[in-house]
Amino acid sequence: MAEPGFDEEFDVVVLGSGAAGSAAALAAHQAGASVIVVEKCPADQAGGNTRVSGGGWWVNRDPERARVFLRALNGPFPVAEDVVDTWATETAENSTWMRELGAEVAMSGDYHTGPEYLEVDGSDCYAGMDCIKGLMGNGLLHGFLTDALATRDVETRYDTRAIRLVAGDAGVTGVEVDGPGGRTRIGARGGVVLATGGFGANRQMVNDYLRVEDSALWGSPASTGDGQRMAQAVGADLWHMDNMMTITGVRADDRFGYYLALWNGANYLWANDEGRRFVNETAETRHGHIPRDGTNELFPTRPFHLIFDEQMRLAGPLSPPPAILPVGWNMLMNGARWSADNSAEIAGGLITTADTVADLADAIGLDPEVLQRTVDGYNDACAAGRDDYFGRPAAALGPVATAPFYALRVTPLMGWSNGGPRRDGRAQVLDTDGQTIAGLYAAGEVSSTYSWCKDGGFHIGDALAFGRVAGREAAARTSR
Ligand SMILES: Cc1cc2nc3c(=O)[nH]c(=O)nc-3n(C[C@H](O)[C@H](O)[C@H](O)COP(=O)(O)OP(=O)(O)OC[C@H]3O[C@@H](n4cnc5c(N)ncnc54)[C@H](O)[C@@H]3O)c2cc1C
Repeated sequence: MAEPGFDEEFDVVVLGSGAAGSAAALAAHQAGASVIVVEKCPADQAGGNTRVSGGGWWVNRDPERARVFLRALNGPFPVAEDVVDTWATETAENSTWMRELGAEVAMSGDYHTGPEYLEVDGSDCYAGMDCIKGLMGNGLLHGFLTDALATRDVETRYDTRAIRLVAGDAGVTGVEVDGPGGRTRIGARGGVVLATGGFGANRQMVNDYLRVEDSALWGSPASTGDGQRMAQAVGADLWHMDNMMTITGVRADDRFGYYLALWNGANYLWANDEGRRFVNETAETRHGHIPRDGTNELFPTRPFHLIFDEQMRLAGPLSPPPAILPVGWNMLMNGARWSADNSAEIAGGLITTADTVADLADAIGLDPEVLQRTVDGYNDACAAGRDDYFGRPAAALGPVATAPFYALRVTPLMGWSNGGPRRDGRAQVLDTDGQTIAGLYAAGEVSSTYSWCKDGGFHIGDALAFGRVAGREAAARTSR
């Protein structure tokens, strides 16, 4: 029987069916709790960023060193030590737990075989990245987690959006949802787990918190920040709302984008809207940061131009095909493909072409003289084998010299956001006085652990680890 005011009741109610929500539901179920997962999308669109991700989680071989690594990566923006402790110990359990659930887990041989932040103290804890069958992407992790819930008869209620937490003197006791049958209230005896993902698809929140003036989506359009707002409405404090992961992209339409990866050649430069270079174009992008000005900076945060020549055009596609990296909403869900020789994008007008650099500048609205000087200066650096201004390595200095010339507008591709309700090491959401909000837990991208730099496989790792903790804690509260 449901408590008065609720249409039905469970021990644990999980909001969102990505990696964090699935892990929370599975852990609560393992602890003997009755569980429901509420998911706003229909089944064929559900799973959030997890569904279109690489599906890999980092392998933590030394929790002690992992503590050091996380503290160093967070740098000037520390998170509470109980959070560091849980993250360091629980991420080390991810692969064992996934195997216990029946997953065929193997290390990726191609991606993230070592840490991106090798120079950072503690990085020796990083042993690579595990994924389902050792294969990245193609929705394999989402598929496994969805099956794992179904085989255990844990219901995922699709097409049902959580709209408001039910809260009172006893804390959070349930959630109001809007589904095919209209609005109902679901009670949660132990707790509600927020696992609704990030806010990268919410333009207002991107403007307010991330200050990225233009971006296309790499991930799920369902990342609209619902959980952040529901948590705020019951008094949650927020943490690191300005941290994120963007990467270089190309706008495909008004929402989604292609991942721009210049791994085939070096005959290019980047020009800002003044027509000038502004950075070492080959600086290693490390999950939303590049080393710049002697520190790590968020990058990219605004659009710019890729200027390249015929040699680069012929070197291969500017966006990797599924055979190389089967990830991203545009590729996996919309079926978008970039042409192997970039010709379709030239024909379609995505890439602008001209016989001279000056004509190219004219065509894209840059000052021809400035862009010509930029290209000449860059080509001089190529000839000298030394890029004095930006430190692009000699081996990566390929001249932009063979006509025709090309320009492509580069748009930050929004991977995901990191901020949301502040939580403690038991995944309990904290209010603005630092007190726990009874009955409210958060895990995954809605409230990621990362306040600054983050390495490969850190986000699925965080979602699985804190999802498990949230599910376990909410289930345990039922019997208290
Ligand atoms: C292209 C790409 C590749 C990536 N590759 C990797 C990788 O290999 N390794 C890694 O560690 N990280 C990777 N990431 C990041 C990682 O995928 C995410 O950070 C992580 O999957 C987030 O999991 P989550 O469960 O917190 O959120 P999500 O997976 O986004 O799931 C949130 C779910 O909540 C649902 N939801 C939202 N609002 C509501 C509501 N109001 N009511 C009910 N349901 C709601 C959504 O529909 C969605 O199903 C990648 C991301 C992208 C975009």
